[in-house]
Amino acid sequence: MALLPVADALKRILDRASVLETESVDLLHARGRTLVSPVISKLDNPPFDASAMDGYAVHAHDVAEIPAELTVIGEAGAGRPFAGTLAKGQAVRIFTGGAVPNGADAIVIQENVSASGTTITVQETAKRGANIRPKGQDFTNGERLIEPGRLLTARDVLIAASCGHGTLSVTRKPVVAIVSTGDELVPPGSALGPGQISGSNAYGLAAVVETAGGEARFLGIAQDSLSSLEKCINAAEGADVLVTSGGASVGDHDLVRPALEKAGAELDFYKIAMRPGKPLFFGSRVSNGKVQYCLGLPGNPVSALICARVFLVPLIGRLLGRETPLESLEAALGEPLPANGPREHYMRGLLDTNTATPLVTAFKNQDSGLIKSLQRANCLVVIPANTPAQAAGSIVKVLRLDI
Ligand code: AMP
Ligand code: MG
Repeated sequence: MALLPVADALKRILDRASVLETESVDLLHARGRTLVSPVISKLDNPPFDASAMDGYAVHAHDVAEIPAELTVIGEAGAGRPFAGTLAKGQAVRIFTGGAVPNGADAIVIQENVSASGTTITVQETAKRGANIRPKGQDFTNGERLIEPGRLLTARDVLIAASCGHGTLSVTRKPVVAIVSTGDELVPPGSALGPGQISGSNAYGLAAVVETAGGEARFLGIAQDSLSSLEKCINAAEGADVLVTSGGASVGDHDLVRPALEKAGAELDFYKIAMRPGKPLFFGSRVSNGKVQYCLGLPGNPVSALICARVFLVPLIGRLLGRETPLESLEAALGEPLPANGPREHYMRGLLDTNTATPLVTAFKNQDSGLIKSLQRANCLVVIPANTPAQAAGSIVKVLRLDI
């Protein structure tokens, strides 16, 4: 099989996947969910002309000449409006958030007023509308406030709660089952025996899944045997996506593909023209009566995580009904780059946008075993397949890392 270009592989994944069902979620649990229908305000905000300060509601004409003496005829607190109407020469004591009474058109702040019984002396003039938040100045009934497809943030939840919605319709969270494979892996924090390493991928991948809006379900470490793999694959029953890491190439111990095929998966592709990440496969099977997408990621932690950002995040996005592009920009190379081979290279690097033209430097050593360089990187420099050597200053495409 010829190596599949990254863009084609991604398209094939996205073409197969479709959006999950809609459900209703309480606002307390809406953060991180994907909105299905637009949020349309049911209210004006503020719902009435409201005082922005503690002071006195007056008619601006009455304080055009100062000092001005006025008679206080009542009080308007937040949630306790004043029922009457101000006549000439009258004022109402008012507090922040109180409704501006009929007949008043300005608020004088209490610092500019001296009071004696029901008489006040106003020491400052006030323009019409002073210290008043007019009804609907923030947003109005019927206004479209949040677009569908949005991964809801704290700010979105705040405005949804402000505009008359107690629940929102969101896409069901895709459940993403994660299986690590390898006889050498031990759980993080365990002492290492001879030849063992810390099995880190599942933890990084679970974090990617959660960041993307999915629900991660770690199914443990499968040994490099068909029976152990089968056990883990069976435990993925009912998940929307099954992600494996490791065992994806064609070594004697790379049994993930055969195990998945035995479990009913039909593979769409299994080699892509990408560095890091050649042994990556994608397919689907029916599990518990519904489609389960199967993504086999490479075992090297750096490859696994970069491929997860490039392929798994968009897959989760498609299931949720949202777009997940990495922010892309052009930058000048700070150091020259050697010629690239036949695979598109996603190089870890550092982007500096404090210069007139953004400047990017790819790390010298791009070995996919170097986890620290991924952790330190803030971007990926994308070099197309078969690009000749490039001098410093050449313009390249850069993707900002967001995981
Ligand atoms: P494999 O694709 O299984 O041949 O794995 C490639 C490399 O990645 C090997 O050095 C593995 O030890 C390593 N590796 C595989 N899975 C993990 C994992 N979950 N955590 C950390 N390293 C891994
Ligand atoms: Mg392995």
